[in-house]
Amino acid sequence: AKTNGRGRAEMFDADLRAELAARAQLEADIQLGLTQDQFELHYQPVMDVATGRLRGYEALIRWRHPERGMVPPDAFLPTAEQSTLICAIGRWTLNHATRQLVAWTEQDPAGHADATMAVNISGRHLATRSLIDEVRQALTDSGLTPKRLILEITETVLMEEPAADAHLRALRQIGVTVSLDDFGTGYTSIGQLQKLQVDTLKIDQSFLHSPDPGTAALVQLMITAAHAFGLDVVAEGVENQEQLDRLAAIGCESAQGYYLGRPAPAPNVTAETGPHAAA
Ligand code: C2E
Ligand code: CA
Ligand code: CA
Ligand code: CA
Repeated sequence: AKTNGRGRAEMFDADLRAELAARAQLEADIQLGLTQDQFELHYQPVMDVATGRLRGYEALIRWRHPERGMVPPDAFLPTAEQSTLICAIGRWTLNHATRQLVAWTEQDPAGHADATMAVNISGRHLATRSLIDEVRQALTDSGLTPKRLILEITETVLMEEPAADAHLRALRQIGVTVSLDDFGTGYTSIGQLQKLQVDTLKIDQSFLHSPDPGTAALVQLMITAAHAFGLDVVAEGVENQEQLDRLAAIGCESAQGYYLGRPAPAPNVTAETGPHAAA
């Protein structure tokens, strides 16, 4: 048993060392990627359900790795979140996304007059007081009107980061819009919604994709409650016309999903001719 135990300990040790080395390597690669401009943003349109018009975009990060090709966010964000690298990524994203929306607005003022840009903010970044200055700086540098910037945060962050509430309050004071991402996957009850520092609710795509007939009633309930508390609703993961029709019938104002437009790199053209042209 003794040798066995030691064997296990050694194996664990080797595994752990390999994992730590892999993580350190990935962190160094991300750092290098930031300085070498290897990251890029893809933009997915958010559409008005009733009119089919463009409401805005969500910026989704991609890593164009010189050897590994296009790396999806799930493959590097969890590691970035274990250090302050996620804050550097957040700053980079805020700066690029706000500038992009202003550029599109200048190219096509009519199509983008009130269009919004949603940026995902991680819990670790929201926990830092400096995020407030960084957001202010990105708005000043780009010239974007505060309310056109949407910060997306997940429910778990609101529950787990003690400073989240105060920081969101300060951000909303600046005039920025706050959106609760992946709603329904965490532990926020509908009743808690009215106390949270959020303006918009994003219903997680799992609700649209569930085969359970009871789910439709749940979505209806979430939308009714959100509206009662003065919140806007965005449904995520719309993949067909039937889902879109159902959302229209229950009064969901905005939607996002592959059926309406896939995330795509910034086209250097106007909204009328681009891949996300309003229907
Ligand atoms: P999310 O914020 O929930 O973003 C929505 C994800 O759903 C995106 O995946 C998007 O490509 C995907 N999606 C959109 N429409 C559909 C659809 O109709 N069907 C299906 N099946 N999927 C759809 P993506 O781009 O891989 O991003 C994954 C997650 O990574 C995001 O989830 C977000 O949590 C995180 N993320 C992405 N970019 C950033 C960023 O710049 N900063 C931070 N902190 N997190 C980011
Ligand atoms: Ca999001
Ligand atoms: Ca989401
Ligand atoms: Ca998600």
